[in-house]
Amino acid sequence: MTNDSVAAFADRHIGPDAADIAEMLAVIGVSSLDELAAKALPAGILDRLGADGRAPGLDELPAPATEHEALAELRTLARANTVAVSMIGQGYYDTLTPPVLLRNIIENPAWYTSYTPYQPEISQGRLEALLNFQTMVADLTGLEVANASMLDEATAAAEAMTLMHRAARGKRHRLLVDADVFAATAAVLATRAEPLGIEIVTADLRNGFPDSPDEFFGVIVQLPGASGRITDWGPLVEAAHAGGALVAVGADLLALTLINAPGDFGADVAFGSAQRFGVPMGFGGPHAGYLAVHTSHARQLPGRLVGVSKDADGADAYRLALQTREQHIRRDKATSNICTAQALLAVLAAMYAAYHGPDGLTAIARRVHSHAARIADALGAASVNERFFDTVTAVVPGRAGAVVAAAKTAGINLWRVDDDTVSVSCDEATTDEHVAAVLEAFGVAAAAPSGIDRLGAPRSTEFLTHPAFHAHRTETEMMRYLRALSDKDLALDRTMIPLGSCTMKLNAAAEMESITWPEFSRQHPFAPAADTPGLRKLIADVTDWLRAITGYDGVSLQPNAGSQGEYAGLLAIHAYHAARGEGHRDICLIPSSAHGTNAASAALAGMRVVVVGCRSNGDVDLDDLRAKIAEHAANLSAIMITYPSTHGVYEHDIEEICAAVHDAGGQVYVDGANLNALVGLARPGRFGGDVSHLNLHKTFCIPHGGGGPGVGPVAVRAHLAPYLPGHPLAEGLGGGAPVSGAPYGSASILPITWAYIRMMGAAGLREASLVAIASANYIARRLDESYPVLYTGENGMVAHECILDLRPLTKATGVTVDDVAKRLADFGFHAPTMSFPVAGTLMVEPTESESRAEVDAFCDAMIAIRAEIDRVGSGEWPVEDNPLRGAPHTAECLLVADWDHPYTREQAAYPLGKNYRPKFWPPVRRIDGAFGDRNLVCSCPPVESYA
Ligand SMILES: *Cc1c(COP(=O)(O)O)cnc(C)c1O
Repeated sequence: MTNDSVAAFADRHIGPDAADIAEMLAVIGVSSLDELAAKALPAGILDRLGADGRAPGLDELPAPATEHEALAELRTLARANTVAVSMIGQGYYDTLTPPVLLRNIIENPAWYTSYTPYQPEISQGRLEALLNFQTMVADLTGLEVANASMLDEATAAAEAMTLMHRAARGKRHRLLVDADVFAATAAVLATRAEPLGIEIVTADLRNGFPDSPDEFFGVIVQLPGASGRITDWGPLVEAAHAGGALVAVGADLLALTLINAPGDFGADVAFGSAQRFGVPMGFGGPHAGYLAVHTSHARQLPGRLVGVSKDADGADAYRLALQTREQHIRRDKATSNICTAQALLAVLAAMYAAYHGPDGLTAIARRVHSHAARIADALGAASVNERFFDTVTAVVPGRAGAVVAAAKTAGINLWRVDDDTVSVSCDEATTDEHVAAVLEAFGVAAAAPSGIDRLGAPRSTEFLTHPAFHAHRTETEMMRYLRALSDKDLALDRTMIPLGSCTMKLNAAAEMESITWPEFSRQHPFAPAADTPGLRKLIADVTDWLRAITGYDGVSLQPNAGSQGEYAGLLAIHAYHAARGEGHRDICLIPSSAHGTNAASAALAGMRVVVVGCRSNGDVDLDDLRAKIAEHAANLSAIMITYPSTHGVYEHDIEEICAAVHDAGGQVYVDGANLNALVGLARPGRFGGDVSHLNLHKTFCIPHGGGGPGVGPVAVRAHLAPYLPGHPLAEGLGGGAPVSGAPYGSASILPITWAYIRMMGAAGLREASLVAIASANYIARRLDESYPVLYTGENGMVAHECILDLRPLTKATGVTVDDVAKRLADFGFHAPTMSFPVAGTLMVEPTESESRAEVDAFCDAMIAIRAEIDRVGSGEWPVEDNPLRGAPHTAECLLVADWDHPYTREQAAYPLGKNYRPKFWPPVRRIDGAFGDRNLVCSCPPVESYA
């Protein structure tokens, strides 16, 4: 029962109150939110409210719960789960998250609410943390360059495959994969290989290359293998290189503290997961995957790469390197579709390494190994691997089921390989008692240590020698390090982040609270189903609710980001065509305004991208669309269209567009990243979409984490449901190819979305969409005079975001969109989305969570900046020397005796006076990106540079 004295959660989530909304609507010139919706959205798609006042579809949602009621329900769901001792392994290991990291990173909005560091001047803290991650991975793998995270181990393997394939420059198309890689890795490799025409040959590579090594572009092996076996891959690497193939090694980072590293035995690529570095298993995710290469392949690395450069005053500064490699710019020429990755989890893993240091990590690894060795010694001949790290595989003819059952009785989950084989993985949380219970389950007695070396080739190179991995080994030092880093960053806990297309809304504490409860977080993705009924119910709820909200029939939560949802959706479309004997359909129409991931995903799915032009008003050019459909009708597979468009408007032709594509036998993919403008108002599954991905890390409150985690569910109509992603180790999913390593992807952050929907209820969700639209239209009206709004829909309305056109101003004054973005930092604001989807513009998305006061403060800043631009335009300030070009201003650059600029230091630091809002002091000045790309440094700079 709702306690009336408690404010409804929706009123806490939505920034403006009724009075604010009324005033905003007056500025827009409408009298109600519903009138606004009727003017902005095409009538044909707008859902009409039922007699009960509820939006159709949404009447399936439960009535809203308060924060405490929702948390109580989550407690009940959590209690239904069993937290067993997990010794399953297969890429997921229990780990002990240091409380100082749990509280100060995962539970700290300063870290989890930050955005991808595209504005490096206000992101130095997380950039440094990510550089630590890169350094850690590069050191441990023995390679020179690691990126700032991958989505998981299996997709990292797939990216390693495509990277090696590119290196072969189209001359070879066969990949050799060792039989002892994780099942999920093998499955995702197969998914990703097929559309690209890569043939995978799987073989036992222990005894070297099979026939004709020169047929393969690459080889993938794992260290240790899925069975736990450690193989000396050195000779295989030599043979591969002699035959002209590259070698990628899936390596366990903890094992690498003890055994020979891939780079040290000649491997070209290393990939894997940093999960066991303090990141809970989380029923499969999220965790940071990693990918590392030699310098010669650095420019081929997918994903984000942090590099070191210089700021305007010559100080060292971090920023994302080689950004031109990113899919946003390269579209169908992109080598990967990854966008959102796993930044927050990479930060956690890096700090785990920093807190333990190389000696601490080595000690943990030794203890893990000694537990495994004791199990192997007691099992004697039943233990099949001579050399192993943490995982013992035992042959117990006909008894595997009984052994696993006996261990389960003792509260321990083992891995049943087949009827005769069981594997046991030890980890940081393994105790002597666990070892004893496992031996009892096998029915063997403890044995005296054999003294035989079980690891094989020991590590001979140093790692983590940088001070970053030595200076923060006490809790006080670590706490202050994390605080000092986050103080350099502007996250949502200090300012609105008005990033168009990114929907940086509130990530409420009640939504976040349960994700670290052990009943949710300490679950192995392949634990027996009986251990996780609460999680499964939660997953079913989220699935049902998303179906209701989108109007689709089937939902898969497996994709770990929007890009992966796109990919899964396109694979489903292809499988559908193929099942109807139309597998030749491979043309994907994509409007020129689309997000770069659309084209990149289509290319990865084996489709040919045909770009459809836009009219001068920003809408899809229907004539061009019809012409392209006619030209490609026989081969038309799909259109990918974002709704509302990336131009921030509800195109009124959407139904016509969908019908035209359907008439030609094509499928309609509606990119649902902008669903925050649709929830409760219109359902893509009902207005013409066959499939959409959603971004739970945009619309549904999962925090952005500085560039991940994310969840990108793919939702489909009934005819595509059979082709939703499946998984080799899970039942009850779709029949399609898996796109992630874990059956339910990043399951442990689904409670965030569950809580949001549960607490908002149907009316709250609809209100959120309406207020988001109202706020964007209010901003458009307030700023239009200073910066023309580039595109509006019918009745002059925008959707939930608006594009401010700076190009005429740039032309007239020389002040660039960059100058404005950097200047906003001096005002204490995060910049809007810059130059997407139109170069030279800013795209502003306020979201419903921002109060009227915050939105007004932002508008005030933008208007004040316009006045500054005018002073440049009038010639009062030279274009090369004014507060915009000088931005951002550090305290240091202002605290000088001889200030020789035409504007004052007060104007630089306090453009709207000292009482405007809390002063944020940028830690560095404008960063020179080109310098960093020319002098690529992607690991922690040497200590001397700190002097
Ligand atoms: C964010 C976004 C994507 C990609 O989502 P990720 O989770 O970053 O992979 C795709 N399309 C649009 C329109 C987006 O805004």
